[in-house]
Amino acid sequence: MLQRLAPLGQSGDVRDEAVIDRAIGCLVGAAVGDALGAPFEFGPPGAYSARFPEPVVDGIGEMVGGGQLRWAPGQFTDDTEQSLVVAHSLLERGGIDSDDLLSRLRRWGRSANDVGSLTRAVLDSNLPADRAAFEVAAKLGRHRSASNGSLMRAAPGALFFAGAGRAGTQVAGFQLSAVTHADPRCQWMVAVQHELVRCLLGGDELEPALRSAIETVPPVVRVDLDPVLDSTWHPADGGPSNNTAIGAFAQSVWALRTFDSFERVVTAVIDLGGDTDTVAAIAGANAGARFGAHAIPERWRAKVHGYVPTDDGGEQLYDADVISDLAVQLIRSSP
Ligand SMILES: [Mg+2]
Repeated sequence: MLQRLAPLGQSGDVRDEAVIDRAIGCLVGAAVGDALGAPFEFGPPGAYSARFPEPVVDGIGEMVGGGQLRWAPGQFTDDTEQSLVVAHSLLERGGIDSDDLLSRLRRWGRSANDVGSLTRAVLDSNLPADRAAFEVAAKLGRHRSASNGSLMRAAPGALFFAGAGRAGTQVAGFQLSAVTHADPRCQWMVAVQHELVRCLLGGDELEPALRSAIETVPPVVRVDLDPVLDSTWHPADGGPSNNTAIGAFAQSVWALRTFDSFERVVTAVIDLGGDTDTVAAIAGANAGARFGAHAIPERWRAKVHGYVPTDDGGEQLYDADVISDLAVQLIRSSP
């Protein structure tokens, strides 16, 4: 008998309160991870736990800001800034409009504090959306084209397309990645992330959700992905660094498998060092989709914030409440 494709994993429905809570958890969780990881970006493993051997529940807490880019305490970075740009493009265009998204990212990039080098090359290329990312990836070559820049902003697309079934959400992931990151490894990791979030939003357990997410990945990507998604793999075993799409995704999966709370998942990946804000944004999206917004510590939720430039040359402030509203709009617009 043919099985009907459940839109949101096994049991989800976009009107279900638990699904809404997980959708908010995904978008706010990504922003919280990003802000918490920002001070430790480019740092060594163990820096987070050395600074905070125990959770800091009083005073300023762990959202201390700083780092090489001097973030304010609680301020999220380019990962979440781009996610918000993606969210508005999807909502205002009613779906993926690659030209619109690329021009919004170009506007954002003119005043952004931090833009990854591959993303910067695409934004500065003056090429149209159907050529820019492909030509930049081809020019950079295989060893430099698989960075995490499209995966870091995958949460809004995952929410918007959660009702589209596996094929629908994975194709959307491809298209959203290809606006800046056209390497198949980047496109597939966004597609995999979309499906993982879709299943988690629907209440699926982690392992079946992961299986559904990677089942469609072709051998040319599986050859790099499978060793680091093995259930016995530990980040200390080596593998691609977390500034690559595969490395960042694998570390987030390791943390999700190993720890049973939002807090421990996010702090564990920050403690791996390297691209800490991005790996924590990805892990935060996944942990939020798994455990729900109610599982995000209030001391972090209360402090997370950031800015995205507006068309009139100003800036809009985003806090957890504004991001939560966006998450609800995205999941309610799900096809
Ligand atoms: Mg960042």
